[in-house]
Amino acid sequence: MVKSIVGTGGFVVVMVLAALIAGTIGGSIERTLVVFFISLIAVLGMGVYSGNSGILSFGHLGFMGLGAYLSGILTMPIAMKQMTLANLPPFLATAHFDLLGATVIAVIFVMVVALVVGIVISKLEGSAATITTLGLLVIVHGIIIGARDFTRGSQSFFGVPRVTDLTVAAICAVLAIIVARFYKDSVFGLKLRASRDDQLAAGAMGVNVRRERLLSWVISAGIVAVAGVLIGHFLGAFSVKKFYFVDTFALLAMLIVGGMATVTGALAGATLITLVTEILRRVEGGIEIFGFQTPQLFGTTQIGIGLIILLAMAKRSDGLFDRLEWDEALLGGWFAKKEKIVGDAPPEHKPVPEGSLQASSITKFFGGLKALDQVSLALANREIVGLIGPNGSGKTTLLNVLSGVLPASEGETLVDSQDVSTMTSHQLAGLGIGRTFQNIRLFSSLSVRQNVAVAALNAWPKVSTIVANEKVDMALEAMGITEFSEVQASTLSYGNQRRVEIARALALEPRFLFLDEPAAGMNREETDSLMDDLKSLCDRFGMGILIVDHDLPLIMRLCERVVVLNEGRVIAEGEPKTVQKDPQVIEAYLGHKGSQQVAEVLSD
Ligand code: ADP
Ligand code: MG
Repeated sequence: MVKSIVGTGGFVVVMVLAALIAGTIGGSIERTLVVFFISLIAVLGMGVYSGNSGILSFGHLGFMGLGAYLSGILTMPIAMKQMTLANLPPFLATAHFDLLGATVIAVIFVMVVALVVGIVISKLEGSAATITTLGLLVIVHGIIIGARDFTRGSQSFFGVPRVTDLTVAAICAVLAIIVARFYKDSVFGLKLRASRDDQLAAGAMGVNVRRERLLSWVISAGIVAVAGVLIGHFLGAFSVKKFYFVDTFALLAMLIVGGMATVTGALAGATLITLVTEILRRVEGGIEIFGFQTPQLFGTTQIGIGLIILLAMAKRSDGLFDRLEWDEALLGGWFAKKEKIVGDAPPEHKPVPEGSLQASSITKFFGGLKALDQVSLALANREIVGLIGPNGSGKTTLLNVLSGVLPASEGETLVDSQDVSTMTSHQLAGLGIGRTFQNIRLFSSLSVRQNVAVAALNAWPKVSTIVANEKVDMALEAMGITEFSEVQASTLSYGNQRRVEIARALALEPRFLFLDEPAAGMNREETDSLMDDLKSLCDRFGMGILIVDHDLPLIMRLCERVVVLNEGRVIAEGEPKTVQKDPQVIEAYLGHKGSQQVAEVLSD
């Protein structure tokens, strides 16, 4: 907190100094402001995608270019078009729109292009997606040069009415801030941010990560297209170079230095880089200081921006404002919807419908390793089944297959009588399969409440945000962590993080709940209280629970039925008291030598 206040204070001081210097050096303040607002819109647009998904994009300048050229063609006086773009197809040659009409058409066009491209990009992960966006930039650049009849190729495109003024740019910038902020706090933004923190867990909590990425990609392209329209109608004449690497670099600098994840970051980054660029551009051309003329220093601007990125990354790798939105800091979240509900009694939880989960002959290969070998397992409502076995016996792999996180190599899984073997994790979450992870996988930058809300929003059947909120309250209360609801999940103790994971899975209203070593890292007391809670969850909600744990006495106490895995095979199954006497089980656990000791522990 102190750090961020100091950071904010330092930032303000730098900005004021920079503004003073810029003022003394001279130049048109108005022009600088218009360019600043347009850059801000572009950065906000890029942030809608990159900030929320965590995937950096180099391709957005392509969208900006498309917006600029198309709207330019649409607003250009017809006589001018006959002169400069003689080969335009008739419908464009005779088209004439005002700025608003042209903006709407250009934005829709760019969003459609983005949708088509996005279908491919949203399937790719991390750096593959980023490289593809770079490819997109190069392709759009090539298309603009190639489509000479529309764009005059690499020559200057001129004759665009210069109708972007300070008012238009400022209004659009405010609108962009509002759209970006509302998207971020929306259900869609929340789900995408969850996937940024942990894609696998987001999928298992029912988030369709591809769809969320695609949506944000299309929205962000639309915002950036507006920036393109505005810059085109501000400059009046531009060339394709305007929408290539140099400006991509400058806009990415604004995004990264300020902090991709927040709207405030975009604002700070755009301000800082604009001011510094203005100053350096003048220094580059040579300035007069106290009657002394400095020489021209080519490249100063680019080098300066590069140094700022280096410095910012070294000091604050997540940018100046990665977590904190100004309104959250000053006004307690003015934009963010207040998520408190008024109801007094905790909402009723409908009993889980009767049904069963049946896995038959599941085999899973990792390369040559057979991690699961013909495993069959059934789970019904209202039962707690223990899954035990030595390290590396395939317990986690089985949960991964059953929850759709990994595809099985062979075998099938039925929920009721529906074959769900080929379903993805988010589809299975939608069918009522909830889970936790052996290595805690919370959405670390989100609050406890938001973590749980991500799952609640995907509960089946589809629910309104109000009902989702009630589910969140119910899950937090059931796990006894209501008091932590506004705390950032990653700051909690180990035991409480595990409880948040269970609450998150509960918010899905699961019919079947898989818990992978939920008591790992807990002391005796914490473990006992967790076990009491699990027992009452099962009684209260009626879901079937499949629990993996190393604590054998505990599993024996909690479960009516135990399945024992060894080297990927089921070696025993049945009531705890029968299984614990099984020589094969004892041997699997400690080998011949320790058999006697483990037999004593197990029959404790
Ligand atoms: P357990 O949870 O019972 O300790 P796991 O299911 O994690 O066991 O692992 C079973 C076996 O499969 C181990 O030999 C492990 O090394 C291997 N394994 C698990 N996950 C993967 C993976 N993603 N890729 C390759 N091998 C894996
Ligand atoms: Mg495991």
